[in-house]
Amino acid sequence: MTSKLSVENLHINFGQKEVLKNINVSFAEHQVTALIGPSGCGKSTLLRSLNRMHDLSPDAKIMGKLRIDGTDIYGKDIPPTKIRQRIGMVFQKANPFAKSVYDNITYGLKINNLPHTKDVVEKALREAFLWEEVKNDLKMPATRLSGGQQQRLCIARTVALRPEVILMDEPCSALDPISTLKIEELITDLKDRYTIVIVTHNMQQAQRVADKTIFMYLGEVKEEGSTQQLFNNPKHELTANYISGHF
Ligand code: ADP
Ligand code: MG
Repeated sequence: MTSKLSVENLHINFGQKEVLKNINVSFAEHQVTALIGPSGCGKSTLLRSLNRMHDLSPDAKIMGKLRIDGTDIYGKDIPPTKIRQRIGMVFQKANPFAKSVYDNITYGLKINNLPHTKDVVEKALREAFLWEEVKNDLKMPATRLSGGQQQRLCIARTVALRPEVILMDEPCSALDPISTLKIEELITDLKDRYTIVIVTHNMQQAQRVADKTIFMYLGEVKEEGSTQQLFNNPKHELTANYISGHF
């Protein structure tokens, strides 16, 4: 299994508070990896470190080595915008721009000097399983879409930039069960072409979509393994307690 992203000896502090403690993990290419663990354990912090989102918070202190295909994600010679194009992010709450469906896709393409033809827009919307639902009204304001459609639009906007990795932070937690299943089908389809890391608090979801699962607790990785092994035969008592809903 080729490792697309690797994290070595990662520590993150916010001011005096140590939020991540010596994280060593890797994320395999063309696989879905789930990050699970109790609220506040550092899942989002780890996810955001992978595409330099913490560059945006001045009090974050990051130590360790993070690499994509062996290249230092925090290398001085690589602009954060380039990293965020290669490593896209989808957030918990769908956050389309206050623009048309069409312009939501072209906006980032223009900023990144990438082709933004109608064909490119159609391809991205098809890839996010949204094309059939919007093709007759691409000028519609994105805010008029349902929550699930807005989230698929955000995924379309991300894949349009041709990333290699897609990070997703609880992408379904604001969605109804049907929309959630649709996004899960989409994630399973996307993994042929991208490397995906998903934070989820939905244990069924982790089991439905993830090849590998990482369990975090109080800023540390407590256990990781194939999703099947971690859920069916957890090695750590904390993992067993967490996945059975004890905390
Ligand atoms: P999770 O996603 O697992 O719920 P987070 O990664 O969001 O956890 O947060 C981990 C810890 O880091 C929490 O205690 C949170 O309060 C703290 N934290 C997150 N972001 C910041 C920040 N920008 N400044 C200070 N503390 C933060
Ligand atoms: Mg979080």
